[in-house]
Amino acid sequence: MYDILIIGAGPAGISAAIYALRNDLKVGIFEGEAPGGKMVYTATIENYPGYEMIAGPDLAYSMFNQIMNLGADYIGERAETIRKENGHFVVRAGKDYKARTVIIATGTRNRKLEIPGEERLTNKGISWCAICDGALYRNKEVAVIGGGNSAFEESIYLSGVVKKVYLIHRREDFRADRNIVEKVKGLGNVEMILNTVVLEFIGEDGLEKLILRNVKTGEISSLEVEGCFEFVGLLPATEFVRDLGITDEDGYIPVSANQETKIPGLYAVGDVVSKRVRQIVTAVNDGAIAALDIIKKIR
Ligand code: NAP
Repeated sequence: MYDILIIGAGPAGISAAIYALRNDLKVGIFEGEAPGGKMVYTATIENYPGYEMIAGPDLAYSMFNQIMNLGADYIGERAETIRKENGHFVVRAGKDYKARTVIIATGTRNRKLEIPGEERLTNKGISWCAICDGALYRNKEVAVIGGGNSAFEESIYLSGVVKKVYLIHRREDFRADRNIVEKVKGLGNVEMILNTVVLEFIGEDGLEKLILRNVKTGEISSLEVEGCFEFVGLLPATEFVRDLGITDEDGYIPVSANQETKIPGLYAVGDVVSKRVRQIVTAVNDGAIAALDIIKKIR
């Protein structure tokens, strides 16, 4: 019987584990992919205190090492279901794991455009990870779609690897932080195509071009690129708890000030929570709050 089973080893889950392990609780942490969550796919992080700039995978690795050194039980499985049984929780992940409390820290996954050609050309030109696939387009031209922090950050990374980046956004205003927008505007090999949406991806065995529509003029055009990186937002990774009735209409999980869901003993932390700001610092904040509440209750 674990004191806490944490589902997801991103910054939120890892932070909860650090606090719990340092208070001698028995902690199991599930992760179906590489530990570190979205940090693993982020080229550089410039807004985590203590580091003016750090590579995402490096921060992920050092956080992961910290919980392993503290004695976390790392379970490389994807959680399939959570149920409550005789006053404790059972997490199904290949087999059943029992715990007094559970913390959901599954974060988000990338939204897709869901337009013609996307499915056929996924991983044949269309990607959601610049740090993984950027080098495939060295000396080639690529497109980045989106106007948020991800689109801008990854454009900066790609501009150092590829010949040219076209940043395509459906409006003139951006969600991305102002300083990062200014940084991108100063790059010689990034061209912004604004008020424009992508209608279709063209290519058989590899991406050849995008069909674009200017939303102001209605003009249709095409853009030849060999790679396209989509950063059009995130969706909560909560399908596996849909039956528990703890999600809102968008699939995110509302929580109390202590990060507890409406099921006592079941907590949610990080990007999967229904909230306004999704950052590494807010994720680690959530993890600490949940763990400290659990420590108090278990003691
Ligand atoms: P986001 O902030 O939700 O931005 C998604 C972008 O995609 C928006 O510009 C949106 O346009 C556009 N978009 C959505 N659906 C579209 C569609 N069907 N066609 C064309 N464009 C579409 O997503 P994100 O950039 O991945 O960021 C997610 C969260 O992580 C945010 O809270 C962000 O601040 C955070 N984040 C932070 C950092 C950092 O602080 N360093 C880095 C990465 C991410 P509209 O603006 O018109 O809606």
